[in-house]
Amino acid sequence: MKKYVLVNYLDVNVNYDSIIAFRENYDFEALVEKARQRLSSFLELQLDSSKTLKPVYLFFTNADGADFGDAIYMDFNLIFKMTEDQRVNFLAHEYFHNYRRYFENHDFNYKSDLNYCIDMIQNEGIADQIDKSEGFVNYYSNIMKSPELAEIMMKLYGQAEEDLEKFQNIIVGFSKSSISEKETIDRILEVYKYNGHHIGCFMSDQIVKAGYKDEMIRKYYNPYEFYNIYNKAAKINGTFRLSDEYMSYLRKITKEYYH
Ligand SMILES: [Zn+2]
Repeated sequence: MKKYVLVNYLDVNVNYDSIIAFRENYDFEALVEKARQRLSSFLELQLDSSKTLKPVYLFFTNADGADFGDAIYMDFNLIFKMTEDQRVNFLAHEYFHNYRRYFENHDFNYKSDLNYCIDMIQNEGIADQIDKSEGFVNYYSNIMKSPELAEIMMKLYGQAEEDLEKFQNIIVGFSKSSISEKETIDRILEVYKYNGHHIGCFMSDQIVKAGYKDEMIRKYYNPYEFYNIYNKAAKINGTFRLSDEYMSYLRKITKEYYH
């Protein structure tokens, strides 16, 4: 992390004058509005205006963004270097997390670390279709322009199908009480890296490829449905299919929270 911040600051130093000029001339309000529109068209609905979206804070950190606490944080240099479409998609991705929070089931998500991971794979997987629809690895190499991160993500994406199977097996093992909750989480964290982006994006890519994008979007805050739709896609695409055992366990733990 420290290294990424340093790399970013050295880059800011090189472009300092242009960044200052950008700050003075760029229409930040318009960006916020465009990102709202982008999220609305992605979700194929009129955003509920009573669900306020958080303020966006731009500052210099590492080249990334996050929806955290009371605000959305984005790296100023990253925004400066992106094309306008990339900026809009980037912010719309963060707004997706922000907006979904009003509808997702917090009792389920925060009941256990396991539930949190199950839900986050859906959360990131769908959000990634907003800004990574031209390829998960392509995003890190051509938009984030980080060869190092691109290499890590390429490796992770390449093993996503296998990681999904491991993820399932760990949970099925836990459901039969053959492993403890603590050991379950330790094992999950070995496959659930970077918020499980690679697994989620692999799943949503398969869903889109099989033609179930609309259904995935309609059910964007119900984790059971995400795994279920993935399984329908996997049947068509010939990728790894989640077992009946896993799906019925997932049904069992989610059914009281989602109707
Ligand atoms: Zn995200």
